[in-house]
Formats: sequence, C-alpha cells, structure tokens
Amino acid sequence: MGISKYAYKGKRRFNISKFDCGDTDGIKKRGDAVDEFVANLLEINKKQQKLYSDRREGVIFVFQAMDAAGKDGVIRTVFSTLSPHGVKEYCFKVPSSEEKSHDFLWRFWSALPPRGFISIFNRSYYEDVLVGKVHAFYKNDIVPERMQKADIIEERYRQIVDFERYLYETGTRIVKIFLNVSKNEQARRFISRIDTPRKNWKVSSGDLKEREYWDDYMEAFETMVNKTSTEISPWYVVPADHKWFARLLVSRIVKKTLEEINPQYPTLDDDTAAALHEYRQKLIDSLGKEGYKEQEKQPTEFADPSLIPAEMLQQELLQKQKEEDQRIKEKGFKAVRKLLAQKYIISSTQEILDAIATSDEEEEQPAPSEGEDDLPDRDVQEIRDHIKEMDERDSDDDAA
Ligand code: ATP
Ligand code: MG
Repeated sequence: MGISKYAYKGKRRFNISKFDCGDTDGIKKRGDAVDEFVANLLEINKKQQKLYSDRREGVIFVFQAMDAAGKDGVIRTVFSTLSPHGVKEYCFKVPSSEEKSHDFLWRFWSALPPRGFISIFNRSYYEDVLVGKVHAFYKNDIVPERMQKADIIEERYRQIVDFERYLYETGTRIVKIFLNVSKNEQARRFISRIDTPRKNWKVSSGDLKEREYWDDYMEAFETMVNKTSTEISPWYVVPADHKWFARLLVSRIVKKTLEEINPQYPTLDDDTAAALHEYRQKLIDSLGKEGYKEQEKQPTEFADPSLIPAEMLQQELLQKQKEEDQRIKEKGFKAVRKLLAQKYIISSTQEILDAIATSDEEEEQPAPSEGEDDLPDRDVQEIRDHIKEMDERDSDDDAA
C-alpha cells in the first residue's frame, strides 16, 4: 500500500539502470488490485470535493514519460471521478513561435491552478530538460551574451526548483510523476499500435525517431529526477510496464497528496450557523405543516440555535459524512464485483461511478434469487478466467 519506495525527495539517488519497470510491488495480478484501486478513487473523489470547498491550496500533478508509457490512460482512469469544475488538464506540445520567444517557464503561468483546483500537466517545463536537452534546442535561441556563456540546462534545473519552491510558498503544491516504461515494452506497444487499425492514429514517425535517442533520454530522466526532487515537490518514478499497476500506484500518489493537504469543509462561525437556522425556520414556515415533514432524527440542537456551539454542528455533519462514506464504499465494492461479473475490466472509472449510481435503483427491485455476493460457481469461474486472460495479454488497449 506504500508509495515511499517510489518517491524521490532529494535525499536518495535515482539510478535508472537499476529500476525495474515491470515491478508490481508484490501484487501478483490485475484482479488483486481492483478493490484497492476503487477504494482509492472514491477517496480521491471525496478529498477533491473538500479541496474545492476549502480553497486553501492548489495542486499540480505533472506527468512525464517516454511515448507509449500510458500517460493518457493513467490520467483518464485516475482523474475521471473528479468533478470537472475543479480540475483541468493541460497538454504541452512543441512550443509555438510566440512561446519560444519567451523564457521557458512563461507558458505555464496561465495553467497554474487557483487555490482549491487541480491542474494536470500532461508534459510540462520538464520537456525543456528532456527533449530540450537531448536535442540541445536552446542553441537555436537568440539570447543575450550572458546566456550564451551559461550552462543552460544546469541553470534550468535550478530555475525549476526555485519556481516550484516559489509556488509552494504561495499556495500551490507540485507533485511530479515519471511513468517509466522499458524499451522492450515500448516496442511491443508501438507494434500493437501499428497492428491495430483503430490505434494507428496514435503512431507517429516522430515517436519512432525519438526511440533512437533512448539512452540519451534515460540519462536526461535520471538527471532530471536527481536534480529537481525536493521534499516539498517530490518525483515519483512509477514502473509502467504493467498499465494496471501504474494506474494503481498513481491513484495511491494522488490520494496520499490530497491526504497530506488535508482539506476540510469550511466551518461556520456561531453567528452564521444561527442565521442559517433562522432561514431554515422561515423556509419551513413557508412550506406549512403539510409541505414539510421534519425528519425523525432532527438534530436537537436546532431547537434553540443560540445554544448550539458551531463544533456541535460540525460533529454532527462529520458523523453523517462518515456514515455516507462507508455506505458509498460498500456500494463501490458491490458494484465492481458486478462489473467484473459482466465481464468488464476497469478501463474507465466512469464505469464504476455509473454502477454505483444505479445500484440504488437496483436495490429497490425484487431481490434476485442469488445474492450479488454469492455469485454462482459458474460465474466466479468465468470472472477468474477473464481476469487471467487480461493479465496474460496485459492489454495495450487504452480506449474505453
Ligand atoms: P499523445 O501522443 O498521446 O497525443 P503526446 O504528449 O505525446 O500525447 P504529441 O503531440 O504526440 O503529444 O507530442 C508532443 C510533443 O511535444 C512531444 O514530442 C514533446 O517532446 C514535445 N514537446 C513538449 N514540450 C516541448 C518543448 N518545450 N520543446 C520541444 N518539444 C516539446
Ligand atoms: Mg505522442
């Protein structure tokens, strides 16, 4: 359940040649990761709501990788449960001529998240010490003499660390994720993209050309991690040869980051709580006796608002939230078992949410002859076979 093994915070050196891209942290197969993955997504979803209402801190998740490492699939599955109003993805491509005429960090300022928001950087300013280093693009820039003399890449590492520190100190946290795929696995994924017509659009000759610079890229990734990992803005190097594991690990990282931020719903002061109670009473009066039925378990503290300390109200709300979380979690597991029974794999978190959303309606229907938790042996065997088949294929299919 840990992520520290994959974290670089400026103390431990990252050695890319010793890194096992096929590592799965002891988890034997995809099927064994499902429950934890679902629990993480539900927790991330809940924490994002708090982050958004708290409006205290913004977060950027930076993704860097070689082509075909699975960036897009990871982003889609791990972040798709989030409410779109609080999250935005930015894909950074080859800089435009306008962008090139500015300093290398210029184009990122407008993508910084307001406090309470999450920005996903699908590629980032780290390209300027990766592809920019491998091909020495900076040599084409027309710059003042002092820059011509400088070791530009070396300076960029420092400038990036300074930039991230500045953002941290002013309310934005940056977490960096390097999806590390092996050279052989990249080749297998390229072949699969060439062989499968509906994946052809993903292949570009440029990607194949960059592969020729593999060793230079590995050096650039290793140096990047070692030069820009800090306690406040760590790098996580994620083994990416098994897509299901990369997704699981990234879900752990996102969950842990949000836990560290520890966002809270804003609390009401006593005066506002009392004012709200007054409004509430007015609304009830306007509906009349028939129009509004008091719920059985009406919080007693509403009886006399002047006697309610805000913490009591808070306690009550927290307790309700806890019960709700537990209920959703249980529904989540049930729904996932069902999805598996219907022969889906978790390629989209939306599938999970849809299943959870509809499971209430289904519960109201007459009980099926076999309980959901008690799938007939035949079905259990089918599910097992299906998972086994998926594990063996370790599909490169990113399409939902
Ligand atoms: P996908 O292929 O899944 O759509 P992608 O991120 O690979 O996603 P592409 O349009 O294929 O998108 O590639 C973007 C390209 O832009 C990459 O080759 C990347 O190296 C390049 N790029 C990004 N930033 C810079 C930069 N600062 N300087 C030069 N090239 C850059
Ligand atoms: Mg690409």
